[in-house]
Amino acid sequence: MVKRKIVIIGAHAAGTDAASAARKTDRSAEITLITNRKVAGYSPCGIPFVLGRHISSFEELIVFPPSYYQMMKIDLRLETTAKKINIEDKTVEIKDKNGKGETLQYDSLILATGAYPFVPRVLREGSEKNGVFTLRTLEDGKRINQALKKANSAVVIGAGLIGLEAAVSFIERGLKTTVVELLPQVLPAMLDRDMARLVQKNLEEKGLNIITGKGVDEILGENNVSGVSIAGEETPADLVIIATGVIPNVQLAKDAGIKIGETGGIKTNMRMETSVKDVYAAGDCAESVNLITKRPMLSQLGTTAVRQGKVAGINAAGGYAVFTGCLGSCVTRLFDLEIGATGLTEFAACRAGIETVAGSITSKTRPDYYPGGKRIRVKILVDKDTERIVGGQIVGGEEVTQRINALSFAIQKQMTVRELAKADTCYAPPLNETWEPMVLAAEIALRRL
Ligand SMILES: Cc1cc2nc3c(=O)[nH]c(=O)nc-3n(C[C@H](O)[C@H](O)[C@H](O)COP(=O)(O)OP(=O)(O)OC[C@H]3O[C@@H](n4cnc5c(N)ncnc54)[C@H](O)[C@@H]3O)c2cc1C
Repeated sequence: MVKRKIVIIGAHAAGTDAASAARKTDRSAEITLITNRKVAGYSPCGIPFVLGRHISSFEELIVFPPSYYQMMKIDLRLETTAKKINIEDKTVEIKDKNGKGETLQYDSLILATGAYPFVPRVLREGSEKNGVFTLRTLEDGKRINQALKKANSAVVIGAGLIGLEAAVSFIERGLKTTVVELLPQVLPAMLDRDMARLVQKNLEEKGLNIITGKGVDEILGENNVSGVSIAGEETPADLVIIATGVIPNVQLAKDAGIKIGETGGIKTNMRMETSVKDVYAAGDCAESVNLITKRPMLSQLGTTAVRQGKVAGINAAGGYAVFTGCLGSCVTRLFDLEIGATGLTEFAACRAGIETVAGSITSKTRPDYYPGGKRIRVKILVDKDTERIVGGQIVGGEEVTQRINALSFAIQKQMTVRELAKADTCYAPPLNETWEPMVLAAEIALRRL
């Protein structure tokens, strides 16, 4: 029997999950997994927590060690770059670190080429200075860790999830740290302004200096960075992180004539097939469909990358699986503050033409008489027309991940706010209040409707 040849470009969240799923679907396929990096299958999500010394070393972040690929009979090629895809003769031209070239034939090809940090034009020149970093790879993490040993002060440009997680780790390492965000709030893609204010206040109380509504117009210093200019005013720093978002890595696909969508990611259907037969895409390089707006979006989350990778892997190996879309559900913890969100923010809903009504409540995670309860703020957004839940945000409290998961299920199942207000929730003094805060927020939204 002729063995199916599967080539996967990219060996991180999307690529490794695609390879595993492909192997489980077709036991005899020849699977080749290519990455231009030195290490495959690690979790970049853990890097800020190594920097903050919650995790002892970067090596701990390797989720799939070399033995995994041997066990799964996956031919892993490290430090190997895919140079060109020829869709006519179904080949990929690769080059290893010694410059040795090879042409791989494929029956199915999966693009899991990820994304790279976006550096705004105004910062490009300054980004070359010593002490200025972006944060994406294990190598970036190691370089920043070295720099942290000598640095006394830091500026983080961008107050998204990665920027804030990095900034918190710098405070934990004893650096005087400033975060600069061009938009008027922190976590602008994740939270509404009222919820973001709570996060900002909490971070400021912990010693983080946050400047919103202003941009960095120059990175200062000769060879070594000495600070940044924020709207003309100088802030000294010997470490600068640019965390202003990521861009899908699609050049290889583009050059091969594979269709790129309006978001800049590779266009795919529900089976993660691209515009070219037998070529799939998954992870940060690929588009998703927003489950509420039905519009294309870039999720750029590890959770989406592994789900898309699995679907691409199964289909590439001759099985059948679909990825129906995502909500961008995400959580983080900054110092001891848990934060989570799913679905649309007010801004995103407005942009999609959805008029919303909000229900917000501040409650506690345990009854007053039981020690250890935490204040929790829950906000639910409801589509005024359909009364369906379209967004949920939580700041503070405990079990935020599972509450956000519950709200994500509710949105996916198109639950109305009336149904959520009647939800059958559970309670015991050490674990929750009698009235679940999400239900109380739903009641408030219902009243406002
Ligand atoms: C600091 C940080 C924290 C994060 N925290 C979270 C979190 O808490 N939760 C969450 O859900 N997500 C988080 N993310 C996002 C998450 O890590 C990404 O969404 C995920 O890693 C994307 O995986 P990917 O496989 O699509 O892409 P990548 O991880 O970018 O991998 C792309 C791969 O493609 C390879 N490649 C690209 N081009 C070529 C080529 N031509 N030849 C060979 N190889 C190539 C690269 O070497 C790499 O192996 C975080 C990201 C960072 C950086």
